[in-house]
Amino acid sequence: MTNWLIKNPIDVLNGAPGRDARVGGVDIRVRDGVIAEMAPGLAAAADETTVDASRCVVYPGWVNTHHHLFQAVLKGVPEGIDKRLFDWLRLVPYPRLTRFTPELLRVAAKVGLAELALSGTTTCADHHYLYHRDGDPTMADVLFEVAEEMGLRFVLCRGGQTQPAAHPGYPKDLAPETLDQFLGDIQRLHGRFHDPAPNAKQRVIIAPATPTFSVSPQDLRVIAAEARRMGLRLHSHLSETEGYVDYCAEHYGMRPVEFVAEHDWVGEDVYYAHMVHVDESEFSILAQTKTGIAHCPQSNARLGSGIGPIPAMAERGIPISIGVDGAASNEAADMISETHEAWLVHRTRMDAAATHVEDVVHWGTRGGAEILGLDAIGTLAVGQDADLVLYDLDAPRYCGMHDPAIAPVTCAGTPHIKLSMMQGRTIVDDGVIPGLDMGELAREAAAAVRELV
Ligand SMILES: [Zn+2]
Repeated sequence: MTNWLIKNPIDVLNGAPGRDARVGGVDIRVRDGVIAEMAPGLAAAADETTVDASRCVVYPGWVNTHHHLFQAVLKGVPEGIDKRLFDWLRLVPYPRLTRFTPELLRVAAKVGLAELALSGTTTCADHHYLYHRDGDPTMADVLFEVAEEMGLRFVLCRGGQTQPAAHPGYPKDLAPETLDQFLGDIQRLHGRFHDPAPNAKQRVIIAPATPTFSVSPQDLRVIAAEARRMGLRLHSHLSETEGYVDYCAEHYGMRPVEFVAEHDWVGEDVYYAHMVHVDESEFSILAQTKTGIAHCPQSNARLGSGIGPIPAMAERGIPISIGVDGAASNEAADMISETHEAWLVHRTRMDAAATHVEDVVHWGTRGGAEILGLDAIGTLAVGQDADLVLYDLDAPRYCGMHDPAIAPVTCAGTPHIKLSMMQGRTIVDDGVIPGLDMGELAREAAAAVRELV
């Protein structure tokens, strides 16, 4: 393993919220995959590779907490481009649920993870839901394999459903898994991939597609109990559109967060994607239980779902993270685009001080790590695993910047990564993912698109 000395960065954001993120242009020593020292003027030891970071700012590697990697080959599908969530589900991902093979999924995962890696991501949690009664659940193992090849930490949020066709748009002729199938595969995944360590490279989370439409209320409680017995976290979509709110009002006479709280689906071990339509009473439940959020502002914009009250939730102490969501509803499924949007969108509705770059970086790094229970990552501090990214600011889009530390998020676009690493191992080297033939991948992706039309 390479030992590194990162010398003379312009600036470093360490992943903490607010002004505490600012640690200045300190050198960073990485030994055996761990940050060993952070201080100015460090001298290189004989067994260290020195990196000249004098044109770079350093961030913790991004932790993307919500994705659907299979959708990386379903971008811009014409029949869904102007549709809202339920119609989009009916027209874009659902008709193709049974058309993915392990080979297609591998291509999609490579595209999605490469896109993330080239934005500075080092950890990805993927909400995978290509499951049905007659399917092969082991197809998801491909996702772990591709992430390992590419050098990213990977968390499989094992999706699916056990309730027939309750989800608006779900194919009526496709039988969902039984609860036994669902839990049986989770048991298998737990044994094969799950590492409970705070610096795990592979994790499993239990994640039916939605707690409202995808499983019965009885199954919801059984799944929560099983998760806690196995020491697995819980994840799902919630309150992405008014449709969730209306469904819960009509069927259960309560708000979605009240419904999940009644079914043991809140707590520090639970997080939800989106949470766009959340009211004050629900804030209190989320804050008291420390239930987390994956904020996905680009997908919410693309599908016309709305703008989640994320700054208000953060103010109440609700844990916030950032997810790019699937590329079929967010054609810019990278963490620079997503954090740029997270920084801007709340200013549109609130005011110019609604969001600060340091806080958005915190949500996208340490915030995500905490929500996933990966306490050894997400901040740049001595003793933490060396998951970090060096953004080279020697490009026109960054020239003229008075505060370079915020440049990667505020200037957005495609960054140039001088170096990124997970636990000290290189992911991106001078803008390139070593060993990945991008031309070949583009040809495979084009073939996948032809197959999925
Ligand atoms: Zn999603």
